[in-house]
Order: sequence, then C-alpha cells, then structure tokens
Amino acid sequence: MSAKILDGKILSHKIKIEIKIEAADFEKKTGRKAGLAVILAGNDAASAVYVKNKITACAETGVQSFEIKFNENVSESALIDEIERLNNDKNVDGILVQLPLPCHINEDAVLNKISYKKDVDGFSSVNAGNLMLGNPSLRPCTPSGVMELIKDSKADIAGKVAVIVGRSNTVGKPLMMMLLEKNATVIICHSKTKDLGNFTKMADILVVAAGKKHLITGNMLKDNAIVIDVGINSVDGKLYGDVDYYSSLKSAGFITPVPGGVGPMTIAMLLKNVLKAAQKYS
Ligand code: NAD
Repeated sequence: MSAKILDGKILSHKIKIEIKIEAADFEKKTGRKAGLAVILAGNDAASAVYVKNKITACAETGVQSFEIKFNENVSESALIDEIERLNNDKNVDGILVQLPLPCHINEDAVLNKISYKKDVDGFSSVNAGNLMLGNPSLRPCTPSGVMELIKDSKADIAGKVAVIVGRSNTVGKPLMMMLLEKNATVIICHSKTKDLGNFTKMADILVVAAGKKHLITGNMLKDNAIVIDVGINSVDGKLYGDVDYYSSLKSAGFITPVPGGVGPMTIAMLLKNVLKAAQKYS
C-alpha cells in the first residue's frame, strides 16, 4: 500500500479561485474591496515571511491588505490603540496580529481587543466560545484547513476515531471541537501522554500538531489512516513535519507533505474568513 498525497497547494489554489470570485462580487456590490489588516511587531524573521505570504495571497485574490509594522519595543497600549482604530475602520474587515508578540506584551490582552466581527484568526474568547457551543463564528484557520484536507480525502468522518497530538488553543483544541461536530470520536494527546503510540495506532484520522520533528513514525500508524501533519520544524534551513513522511507512506491511506500540506491551507482559510467577515458584518 502507498499513501495518497493530500496536496495543500492544489487544494488551496482551488479555494483561492473561489475566494477571488467572491471578493470581486463583494467589490461590485459594495464599491470597495474586502480588507485585511496585518499587524507585525518586532523583528522575528519567520513572522516576517508569514506576513509577506499573507499579503501576497491578498493581492492574488483581490483582497485589500494593510500592513502595520511596530518595532520590538512597542508598548501594549500602542498595540491596543491601533487595534481600536482598526476596529472602527470601515475599510478593514479582518484584523490579524502576527504571533508571537514581543515577550513584554500580554498576547491575550491584545488579541481580545480585536472585535469578534473582525477576528479572522478566530482566537478571541467570543469566537472560541462560539466554536465550543457549536454556534456560527469565525473559526481558527489552521484547524479549518485541516478539516478541508480531511474532506478532500472523501472519508466519512462520522464514527471514526480521530486522534489529535497537541492541545494548543490555536490548533489542537479548536480542531477537537470541529471533529466532534462531525461526529468523530476524538482523543487528544499531549506532552504528558504516556505511550503515545498506543493512541496513534487507534487513529483512523491522525492530526499531529506538536512541533517535534518526526515525532510520529510509520510503525505508530493504523493501516490506511488519514495522516495530517501540521508541524513545521526548521532544521539547518530545511523544513520538516512532525510525521516521518517516508516511513509513513507505506501504511497511511492519505498523508499531507511538509511543506505543501497544511501551511497553504491556513492562508486560504484566512482569506475565506476575511470574506465571511466582510459579507456578514460590514
Ligand atoms: P504549541 O507549542 O502551542 O503546542 C504544542 C502541543 O504539542 C502542546 O499541546 C504539547 O502538549 C504537545 N506536545 C509537545 N511535545 C509532545 C510530545 N512529545 N508528545 C505529545 N504531545 C506533545 O504549538 P502549536 O502552535 O499548536 O503548533 C504546533 C506545530 O504546528 C508547530 O510546529 C507549529 O509551527 C505548527 N503550526 C503550523 C501551522 C501551519 O499553518 N502549517 C499553523 C500553526 C502551527
């Protein structure tokens, strides 16, 4: 058996074409483009690349982008003032604060100042709470992208055992709610889980978001599993996932590559959220 590849580049390209059509439609109806403001604070090289990719994706899909840069020493109150200005800016439908923020800033305090109507990352308490309750909301982009990749496998999620490795507020926990909503039986593993392989071997669907290069190897998989690798680990300038791709190809049914799997999907889902916010709230 050899796994089929779930290609995030191809899938995200298809989604971006749909977004471009919706964005043009929005502009025709309202006389303005849907807009995304991206705040970058500090000099983190990886963050600068992520922001550049988001700005490029906006240009590709006809979404107006506003890049706002602050230096490393920016105060929490200056960031909050900027967010309040953007909350009231009618040309801005989505506000994204690139994480991590400099260490002296309380990330939660800043993120929670973003209006839930413009919270296109879906990290605010209101949107996280609505996801928990199963209400419509702006949902976090990476877990939404994972769900689209699973959908692309054409598998029926209901009744499947889904194992998530990682319990972060941005990936593992929201994904748990999304899989539960589709009637999977969900197991969450984390850094204190004992005998990780015992759990991963139960997974019809395995999503790994731990940030540990090659934490999962082929012998830890159930035959024919859908394996989604969220991890991005940079070692000597090369990117690796949390899943050892080559040892997993033999037993997995479907697998995502790194790079080219979840990463491009995250950006596509961000743009989808900007359009959703523009259509729903402006
Ligand atoms: P995080 O550090 O906030 O959380 C990591 C989680 O993994 C924690 O819950 C921890 O308990 C768990 N973990 C760590 N070591 C473990 C182990 N040995 N066994 C089991 N669980 C373990 O990270 P995050 O923000 O959720 O990101 C996880 C990974 O996904 C990172 O590599 C990050 O770069 C990547 N990521 C990728 C995208 C994308 O778009 N592709 C988006 C977000 C995060």
